[in-house]
Amino acid sequence: MSGTFMGMPAFPKAAHEAVNNPTLRANLRHATHTIRAKRAKAVAEVSDWAELREAGKQIKDHTLRRLDRYLVQLEESVTAAGGTVHWAADADEANRIVTRLVRETGESEVVKVKSMATQEIGLNEALEAAGIRAYETDLAELIVQLGDDRPSHILVPAIHRNRGEIRDIFRQEMGEWGRAAPEGLTDTPAELAEAARLHLREKFLRAKVGVSGANFMVAETGTLVVVESEGNGRMCLTLPETLISVVGIEKIVPTWRDLEVFLQTLPRSSTAERMNPYTSTWTGTTDGDGPQTFHLVLLDNGRTDTLADEVGRQALRCIRCSACLNVCPVYERAGGHAYGSVYPGPIGAILSPQLRGTASEIDASLPYASSLCGACYEVCPVAIDIPEVLVHLRERVVEGGPVVREGNKVVLKPAKGHAAERAAMRAARWAFGRPGVLRTGQRLASGTRRVHPRTLPGPGRAWSAGRDLPAVPAEPFRDWWQRTNGGEKDAR
Ligand code: SF4
Repeated sequence: MSGTFMGMPAFPKAAHEAVNNPTLRANLRHATHTIRAKRAKAVAEVSDWAELREAGKQIKDHTLRRLDRYLVQLEESVTAAGGTVHWAADADEANRIVTRLVRETGESEVVKVKSMATQEIGLNEALEAAGIRAYETDLAELIVQLGDDRPSHILVPAIHRNRGEIRDIFRQEMGEWGRAAPEGLTDTPAELAEAARLHLREKFLRAKVGVSGANFMVAETGTLVVVESEGNGRMCLTLPETLISVVGIEKIVPTWRDLEVFLQTLPRSSTAERMNPYTSTWTGTTDGDGPQTFHLVLLDNGRTDTLADEVGRQALRCIRCSACLNVCPVYERAGGHAYGSVYPGPIGAILSPQLRGTASEIDASLPYASSLCGACYEVCPVAIDIPEVLVHLRERVVEGGPVVREGNKVVLKPAKGHAAERAAMRAARWAFGRPGVLRTGQRLASGTRRVHPRTLPGPGRAWSAGRDLPAVPAEPFRDWWQRTNGGEKDAR
């Protein structure tokens, strides 16, 4: 069973362990810098990139505003094409549905296409508890699964592993899961890929049930779309008799014309390719061709709560390209595991606290896992203003206390932590609302500036140990203004 993110410590603690691992740092730096440079080149080739980006943003916003209507249209289209649609309010319900559907086939194993949604709900673990084995078939996901590890990147889940580590995992673990690694396996990419190909092929040919997610769902025809690079997805989507797709409700686009925009921006933003090597589409079932039974499980799991937040809802535009991870200076050093979720990096820092609420230590710390440099916003192909959402979520954590989901409701709980920060913000608000008090306070601070401590006492000591407190000027700005502008009223 793959490791899970349950019970992760807060981001600073998890990140601290990661930044002290030189191998991890080297692997991450090499990989993110390589992908980042390639992406920049691929994007520069497109003269209307800014227009495509704006179009993607507007299509997603339009669709999210009318999500109820498009979801019903999608359900009708899928049903008319011979599929069955199931609605899952949360992870437990989605897992129960998939487990029941697999059981109904009489099978005890499934092959999987790489899917963030199924990782988000912990489907593999739920299936394993029900005696059903799920085999990951994406190369990087296979490495993660065989290594009993956790994914650390959206696109390249095993980015934290180098070739030598992968060779060792294949040698030690493949035999436990099926066909063993060839004798004398080396760490050359071609040999590693061939070992994975041989190992997976017997699973593709034997499997009766496939499980996938989808990158997009086209409402007008009920068509699902998966883009990938290795061809394993195409195998899982076409060879089994039953196909079960678990997809977040935000993955919908109204028409094929809308899809056209994302099929241009996604490959260039993610793998820096002009188009994906494999773009698979399927619409219900077709007699004598591909799976004869198709189930679509539409997953909410916190998405409608996120949609209710006017600032935070833009996170639902995400097309999971991972460009924001590859440019993030925090991700590059901390690695993906520190984010405590299948969604690492900048998008994870705004998505996880909204999908899961901020009740846990890790989720309350994620909005702070950023330098707010804005590089993530610059590269995002759907223009998600990640820094804006981060600041918004920080405000939520400090002011409102944890936002938790209780059943189908979002509830603001009284805050427990951050008491000092909250008290400081309240004092500042009180003073800024009273100009006379502020002026007196500033004069007092200027007059006593020679005796100000350079470090804060008590719990503030750790905070000030790594920062230089700004020197207080000898004369407050307002006094200087009055003096140098002939007694004009202060510049409020
Ligand atoms: S937030 Fe934007 S850049 Fe990051 S993964 Fe999503 S679409 Fe890509």
